[in-house]
Amino acid sequence: MPREALAALQFERLRSSLRNAWDNVPLHRQRMQVAGIVPEEVRSLDDLRRVPFTFKSDLRDHYPYGMFARPVSGLARLHASSGTTGKATVVGYTRADIDNWANLMARSLHGAGARAGDVVHNAYGYGLFTGGLGAHYGAERLGGAVVPMSGGSTERQIALIMDLGARVLCATPSYALAMAEVAEQLGVDLRQSKLEVGVFGAEPWSAAMRAEIEERLGLKAVDIYGLSEIMGPGVACECTAQAGLHGWEDHFLFEVLDPETQAPVPEGQAGELVITTLTKEALPMLRYRTRDITKLTTTPCECGRTHLRILRITGRSDDMLIIRGVNVYPSQIEAVLVGRPMIAPHYQLVVERQGTLDQVTIEVEAQAGVAPEAFAAIARDVAHHVKSMVGISASVLVKPVGEIPRSQGKAVRVRDLRPKE
Ligand SMILES: [Zn+2]
Repeated sequence: MPREALAALQFERLRSSLRNAWDNVPLHRQRMQVAGIVPEEVRSLDDLRRVPFTFKSDLRDHYPYGMFARPVSGLARLHASSGTTGKATVVGYTRADIDNWANLMARSLHGAGARAGDVVHNAYGYGLFTGGLGAHYGAERLGGAVVPMSGGSTERQIALIMDLGARVLCATPSYALAMAEVAEQLGVDLRQSKLEVGVFGAEPWSAAMRAEIEERLGLKAVDIYGLSEIMGPGVACECTAQAGLHGWEDHFLFEVLDPETQAPVPEGQAGELVITTLTKEALPMLRYRTRDITKLTTTPCECGRTHLRILRITGRSDDMLIIRGVNVYPSQIEAVLVGRPMIAPHYQLVVERQGTLDQVTIEVEAQAGVAPEAFAAIARDVAHHVKSMVGISASVLVKPVGEIPRSQGKAVRVRDLRPKE
């Protein structure tokens, strides 16, 4: 669809989404009334910018159903996320919401190179987390045969990938790498499997990590994005051009704002991704503050899709570390670590308070066969490259093989030992 037609469709759908929120969610109506807005008057992006933000804390504060625009009797599914801090948030879907989700996930998988008839090995966690069922329904909608594996039991996953002939693998990138490692230990070469397409998401990952995964699994790896508050996986996904994630603008409206001033940033500049849902019935979200830092581009993609692209997510503003005045995301350090000689792509950042300053120690793992006598020199080399490429002075601790915990789903990249304030 030409971008002008897409924009017209967005604003038509936006008005009905605002109307749904106004009619059925008292919190949204009150906030719009305070801001002096009625749904029918929102005709442009400038009008939309007068609509108040929604935050994750709103879901927590109105736990469980206070943000829902439909009674529980009208729902088809509920998911919940524990979040890293505090009370769970609950999200709900009508039958039509589930249907849209399956379509968008199928569209995402197709853009990544998956096709009807493929065996899709789904290692995203099933359960309250949206990853497993989101990918599952999308792969079925596409016409694939889904292996509903979930996370864990890594040796069994590898056997099933080989035996059942999966062409598509869905997993977190850190778990994909953990699978590659276990396969190598078992003497199984995943590059000899039928795998060709990897759809990896649910955590930020670097271009270096992508290259590592593609090399070790023998597939083309694309980045997928989503969050349960907006829908789940399939809000945006890369195509085979691997040049940013197409955001599905017929169902979502994307903005990028300066996280401090909330002013819109020009296209191509980094800011916080803010998403408004256009078709969600059960849980319409108005200008939801994702905390994810990224850039947008509307320049045409070589695949021909007109949907804007979200450049790879650097990290969540919640995960950003400030080390002696320098803003750092774990994925920036990852980009330095992955692929360096003699170290394995497993790492954790330990953050401590020393006096008034935050100090970060990068814990990395040596590759198998590297002598412990070499660890100190490797650590100096890593510290030097982190300093020159990220701009922070970090201590580096090289550990023997197997000492960094392996991901079974979402990787834990930061151990924050600073006193809680
Ligand atoms: Zn594309």
